[in-house]
Amino acid sequence: MEVPFFDLTRQHAAIENELFSVMEAVMNSGQFLNGTYLSQFEDSWSQYLGVEHTVGVANGTDAIYLTLKALGIGSGDEVITTAVSWVSTASAIVNAGAKPVFVDVDESGLMNLDLIEHMVSSKTKALLVVHLYGQMVNVVKAKAICDRLGIMLIEDAAQAHGASFDGVSPGQLSSAATYSFYPTKNLGAIGDAGAVVSRDRELATEIRKLANQGGVSKKNIERIGITSRLDELQAAILCAKLKYLFRWNERRVEIARSYNDILKQCAGISFLKNYSASHHVYHQYVILSSNRDEFISYLSENGVGVDVHYSQPLPELPMFHVEGNSFPVAKKITQEVVSLPIFPELRKVEIEHICRVIGHFLDKTRSPTVD
Ligand SMILES: *Cc1c(COP(=O)(O)O)cnc(C)c1O
Repeated sequence: MEVPFFDLTRQHAAIENELFSVMEAVMNSGQFLNGTYLSQFEDSWSQYLGVEHTVGVANGTDAIYLTLKALGIGSGDEVITTAVSWVSTASAIVNAGAKPVFVDVDESGLMNLDLIEHMVSSKTKALLVVHLYGQMVNVVKAKAICDRLGIMLIEDAAQAHGASFDGVSPGQLSSAATYSFYPTKNLGAIGDAGAVVSRDRELATEIRKLANQGGVSKKNIERIGITSRLDELQAAILCAKLKYLFRWNERRVEIARSYNDILKQCAGISFLKNYSASHHVYHQYVILSSNRDEFISYLSENGVGVDVHYSQPLPELPMFHVEGNSFPVAKKITQEVVSLPIFPELRKVEIEHICRVIGHFLDKTRSPTVD
């Protein structure tokens, strides 16, 4: 049996009539940017999250960049962020002109909030937390820390569509939360797409200006901006898919439970910590393997697709060149994490197959071969 790490064709086959019909509607409308699907999606996304304003942008990286710019963060400023994330989180800070200051993670793989206060300087303007793998950091605690330090809170929620912490969604406590609708995310477009959500109307307007070359209309250009739009085709696809997101996330949680139930009986597999107050939406299902290379080759030889998120702490990437500080937990976790297939259309027999292959691997590595 071959089990792919990820397969969108299954999702699209199930709803293809709806997808083709909105694509046709966009073609027939002749309007490809800043049209009715964009407004419809922005309204629906705001409603889904319980956050007043959504601004659709071209991708999740621009969403972070534009948020930093709109908040006036740039040259000479520092932004505290996590040592483990997709590179976008940190590159957006650098592209905005500011300096990322990295904080180690805890056993959940998420930023260790207790370390923030040691990393603050007079240049610190904001804390950028990342809700990694579908699990939210303790945003209530993060907000309290930011208030005490007098800095802004921004959330990278690119992996956390539908997640919450103690009932709080991204964007409800912070200055803004950013989303990506890259095709593999829990809600994905058929190309690049992203959004910023915020309760702050002025901030949302500022972001819309910056994403539209500095003005909401051609006659009214106020600053230097970029072109970063969520186009009508992507917005229409997202509108069509959004109504399934709740069910898809439920299915991800179910799959994670099946994995947990089976894998916790296997000695030799360990797990990242889950926060009990966090409603996890399992963008990734991650386990820890102490001999990862062997584990991954065995799984691929046996037809199971896996991936690694991520293989290095961000501060170890040469372009962020951080010297001096060490990130022991990030270092250990990035050497051991393995992401197993988790997407709503993954079948029960496939989950069982994956767990069986993992079981065989563990048996094999536990009993040394005798010549
Ligand atoms: C996907 C992702 C992004 C960037 O999104 P793009 O749409 O690919 O630019 C940023 N941060 C995290 C944590 C992500 O997973």
